[in-house]
Amino acid sequence: MEFIDLRSDTVTRPTKEMLDFMMHSKVGDDVFNEDPTINELEMYAAELFGKEAALYCPSGTMTNQIAIKIHTQPGEELVCDVNSHIYNYEGGGISFNSGVQAKLINGDEGRLTAELIEPHINPDLDWLTRTSLVSLENTVNRAGGSYYTLKDIKPISELCKSKGLALHMDGARIFNALAETNGSPQEMGKYFDTISICLSKGLGAPVGSLLLGTRAHIKKGRKIRKVLGGGMRQAGFLAAAGLYALKNNLTRLKEDHKKAKQLEAVLKTLPYVESILPVYTNIIIFNLKKDKYTGAEFEKKLSEKNIKIAAFGKQTIRFVTHLDFTNEMLEQTIKVLKGM
Ligand SMILES: *Cc1c(COP(=O)(O)O)cnc(C)c1O
Repeated sequence: MEFIDLRSDTVTRPTKEMLDFMMHSKVGDDVFNEDPTINELEMYAAELFGKEAALYCPSGTMTNQIAIKIHTQPGEELVCDVNSHIYNYEGGGISFNSGVQAKLINGDEGRLTAELIEPHINPDLDWLTRTSLVSLENTVNRAGGSYYTLKDIKPISELCKSKGLALHMDGARIFNALAETNGSPQEMGKYFDTISICLSKGLGAPVGSLLLGTRAHIKKGRKIRKVLGGGMRQAGFLAAAGLYALKNNLTRLKEDHKKAKQLEAVLKTLPYVESILPVYTNIIIFNLKKDKYTGAEFEKKLSEKNIKIAAFGKQTIRFVTHLDFTNEMLEQTIKVLKGM
């Protein structure tokens, strides 16, 4: 068996079926809006979430950063949870690209509520920063894949509307949330001005993210994408992988969640595990006992057994289950974990 990779759900490789589909796609110059496969993917994703238009981009960082630029002016502020990807893992892009600062809130496992957000919306006074955007992450990467339901989101959306703020969703793993709750993307789409979705996480495409919004948002977004250097030419070959993923790989996400739960159950019984964050979807985050292993030692030990994992902090480990993590790999991982 080749090595087992639990570092992220980004490590999946395209299957033969996906590659065949990619190779047979029609392409054109997308800077001229002439790539039929990209146009089809954008239309398909927009309709899935009940949005008017979409924009195909190389990465989720780019779709998030374009959304922030669309909704803000330099010198303004956005509100997000302290665990947010847009704040922690996008290289300072909030300030680099948009000249905006972030108001960080300590949510409940990465989730914000209208009650938590409201006190941080600044009134219109000369000396205060203008609050212009709220960004929610669904599922929350750093908080073990916790997710929002429609019931959680509705009051936040109402608050944003009443205060004239835009609402963006970093939905890099939105399909994990929807699979777990049997939620409808159309319903979810109603509450957000813009949504970013990733095709290269659990969905298994090699590249690509989409920004969804109104026609006006996406017109503005196309211009920003070009400025950021994200205007691509015959990228329909890649977009085809996204189309294939959206049409074939959504319902199977529940299998990843099931495997994550099985790993959680085993970890709970192991003497070297101090604590585990609740496992909601496909992300497992746990702490090692200080007198047993550091994160780095644990990572090294597992790599000697052909299992790649990511230390997420000094004593913290993250596992992510995905399309290429098979049942046999699950069994092997459990065997190794029990033998440590
Ligand atoms: C992966 C991820 C992104 C996008 O990251 P890229 O590496 O740019 O694709 C955005 N938000 C969250 C929560 C993610 O996990």
